[in-house]
Amino acid sequence: MAWNAARKAELTDKIAAGERLTRQDGEDLYECDDLAWLGAQAHGVRTAKNGDVVYFNVNRHLNLTNVCRASCAYCSFERKPGAKDAYTMRVEEAVELATGMAHEGLTELHIVNGLHPTLPWKYYPRVLRELKAVLPGVALKAFTATEVHYFEEISGLPASDILDELIDAGLESLTGGGAEIFDWEVRKQIVDHDTHWEDWSRIHRLAHAKGLRTPATMLYGHIEEPRHRVDHVLRLRGLQDESLEAAAGSFSVFIPLRFHNDNNRLSHLKMAQPADVLKTFAVSRLMLDNFPHVKVFWVMHGLSTSQLALNYGADDMDGSVVEYKITHDADGFGTPDKLTRDDLLTLIRDAGFQPKERNTRYEVIREYEGPVSLAERRAEPQAVWA
Ligand code: SF4
Repeated sequence: MAWNAARKAELTDKIAAGERLTRQDGEDLYECDDLAWLGAQAHGVRTAKNGDVVYFNVNRHLNLTNVCRASCAYCSFERKPGAKDAYTMRVEEAVELATGMAHEGLTELHIVNGLHPTLPWKYYPRVLRELKAVLPGVALKAFTATEVHYFEEISGLPASDILDELIDAGLESLTGGGAEIFDWEVRKQIVDHDTHWEDWSRIHRLAHAKGLRTPATMLYGHIEEPRHRVDHVLRLRGLQDESLEAAAGSFSVFIPLRFHNDNNRLSHLKMAQPADVLKTFAVSRLMLDNFPHVKVFWVMHGLSTSQLALNYGADDMDGSVVEYKITHDADGFGTPDKLTRDDLLTLIRDAGFQPKERNTRYEVIREYEGPVSLAERRAEPQAVWA
């Protein structure tokens, strides 16, 4: 498609009128190299939905086991049984770890795991129950649709019964993982388990019917093409239409995840560069008119690109927030693995937004001062060397 002023004007009008964008519109938007224009369109939509707010929450990630029977091509996490750095936590170990987090002011525990070949199904609700007992005020966001599908296999129970038992044990939300790219031609080359669009969507639909609000992700920047990204968000948009119409729950947020090429079978691929990242956020925000939020996971995008993504459709920042600085280089490019609360607030305010701390259900639990002018920010003399 040749980009020209007429097509740009047509899409500008369509977006301003709040008309739903088509597959062709989405594919055309990916071909547009006018990033400033794309950003302005996405920012307009983001501002209409969420004003100048950037949400964040204080959470911790817990991976009960990295042992997995699958070997997905993009995965750097899984280990085979017997590998020297393979681990599986006993319930007591998970509880001990969670107990150590009790003073950290967190509101959410994010739990995802490998598909362990021998752990019994009952282990999972038991862990949730015991974690809830030591962290009663903390929301448990746990398990991908892939894991729930796997629980069906190892328990012989249908997903509905599995979700009922997990909810009874304290589950507040599923996680959004396992989505990767839904298109089968791409998916069959990178995913090594049996959970594809049909089961992934079935399980989220079921969770919505039971009143859960769930996130949805997309792993991009590997072997897929822009049209696969458009297809991915269109499937999610369709499912969200259904849930908003018929269910008590729905998708809460869309999370683009940038593929990382370290320590996996796709290490030969180049990672998505910042312009592609920003375009992906903008097009996703524009296509997903029925999703309330778009989240940038700064650990996977780097701090600078994440800050820019707030002007390309993102209104939520995720990544570990701590009170004190004990950080590591998460990606080998200087991105820390944790931010202090003050650093995160500065990052948000410096981009011109108002930070609000939220819980898993996107209820605001703490408000902070909004952005300040550059003059105020620089009122104190700045050290030349730290
Ligand atoms: S299912 Fe795939 S992505 Fe998930 S841990 Fe196993 S290998 Fe990694």
